[in-house]
Amino acid sequence: METIPNTTRWRDDNIAMTLKDAFQILTKPVIPQKTRENGDGENELGERDMELEYNEGSSIKVYIAGSSTRPCTDEARAGWGVYFKESDQRNSRSRATGPQTALAAELQAFIHILQTTNPHEGLHLISKSERAHNAITESYKIWENNGWSEAPHKELMIELISRLRERPAPTFFELINKDNTSPWKEKCISNAKDLAKKGRRSGPENEEDESLNQNQIQTRINVPEGVRLSTITQATAYRRQLDGLKDMKSQTTKENTDIIRSDLKAKQGHSPITTQLWHSLKRAKNLTRKHKEFLYKTTRGAYKVGKHWLNSDKPEIRERAMCSPCGQLETLDHIYCRCEIPGREQIWRTIMNIWRAKYPNEQWENPQLGEILGIPSATFKGNDGRVDAGKTRLNQILISEGAHAIWRLRCERVIQHGNDPAKFPKKSQIKSLIKHRINHRLRMDCITADSRKFDKRAIREDLVVDTWQGILEDEDAMPEHWTRSTGVLVGNRLFETEMATPFRPP
Ligand SMILES: [Zn+2]
Repeated sequence: METIPNTTRWRDDNIAMTLKDAFQILTKPVIPQKTRENGDGENELGERDMELEYNEGSSIKVYIAGSSTRPCTDEARAGWGVYFKESDQRNSRSRATGPQTALAAELQAFIHILQTTNPHEGLHLISKSERAHNAITESYKIWENNGWSEAPHKELMIELISRLRERPAPTFFELINKDNTSPWKEKCISNAKDLAKKGRRSGPENEEDESLNQNQIQTRINVPEGVRLSTITQATAYRRQLDGLKDMKSQTTKENTDIIRSDLKAKQGHSPITTQLWHSLKRAKNLTRKHKEFLYKTTRGAYKVGKHWLNSDKPEIRERAMCSPCGQLETLDHIYCRCEIPGREQIWRTIMNIWRAKYPNEQWENPQLGEILGIPSATFKGNDGRVDAGKTRLNQILISEGAHAIWRLRCERVIQHGNDPAKFPKKSQIKSLIKHRINHRLRMDCITADSRKFDKRAIREDLVVDTWQGILEDEDAMPEHWTRSTGVLVGNRLFETEMATPFRPP
């Protein structure tokens, strides 16, 4: 992949708080133990594997500028401009809301782009603002670790970083300066700057700003609680939720825990008591923090879906209760187990492919809702009656990743695209979403298996091997201790759902 100077691919290397130390490994130069070729003849070298489908060249390029006058005075005014290309309808500008500084305006411009572009397409964001560039690519890590108290424009920074974290496709940030410029770049950035100046001059009475504000308000109303939650520091939010476990008892929770218990009983012959369900969720070692939050909130009915909306007296709000393309009430069971819109079936089919490759003699049935919500309590036992840790781990990883991917696709479709069928996800987008996630989990397992770095938090190397061995790409050519090599991937063929064995609907 060609590398452009001053360009950073934004990576979420501050998110795994429990794995904070893991990234010390990544900051060291990674020397690939070997180069290998996959079936397509592409070189695969560790981290880059994830980028085969993207590079800076194929990303949407956007130039961003802020503008301010009379800073630090009562008359301070700031605005932002974003420039895609000549006569592009997406070119836009606005007066900054809140603090009237150029930095605040620039951060708002970045947020605007993340809100309004397809999250499955690579983005290449170009600016001349060193402050904004450093804030987004470096300083945020320190601010986040210190509870954001030192961040300039804290709310904007939190929103921006959480939106970056939610993007499945990569985002590149490029800084233009004297060492990295060209007449073309200067021309584009100056167009963005002109827009920013116009934005700065416009007032709230300006028509365009009005319509933009309305959009923003609309978005806020539509964002379900869970998405907004991601703008709170994850650790705080998570702690708060788990602390609140005892006091919040609701009808929805009761219904969902009943479903979990009955589906788990049907699947594995016994069902844990309700307190045990929460305990397993809290302690789940096979789930990411994000997925634990997600399952917790889903089970507690914190995401507004289906009948929740029926209480309104406004017909347009009541409509939200329905999965409109399917014409059904949008229950959790509908979303994860029945919905006909592209995404759900393909994801479960991919999961099935992976499971069957690992356990070819076993039946696979798409998980029922209770199994999905209760996945931390779902275990497999070996012939000796003891828990089969590798099998349990793979199952929990696959089901939690699958369910979360389906939820993400559903939120994008409903919230960002208003159920517009023209914007339903394409097969290739669904594939790259799930492929990216599963490979990410494999890679994190390999990193954390390095017990020298992780002491107590380490996953045993043999558990990682038990979990993933048998479904890796080019496995025969792997070194004996493959968890220590950088180029490990789940077999690419397993993501090809066209080639899959016939799909049995649940
Ligand atoms: Zn549906």
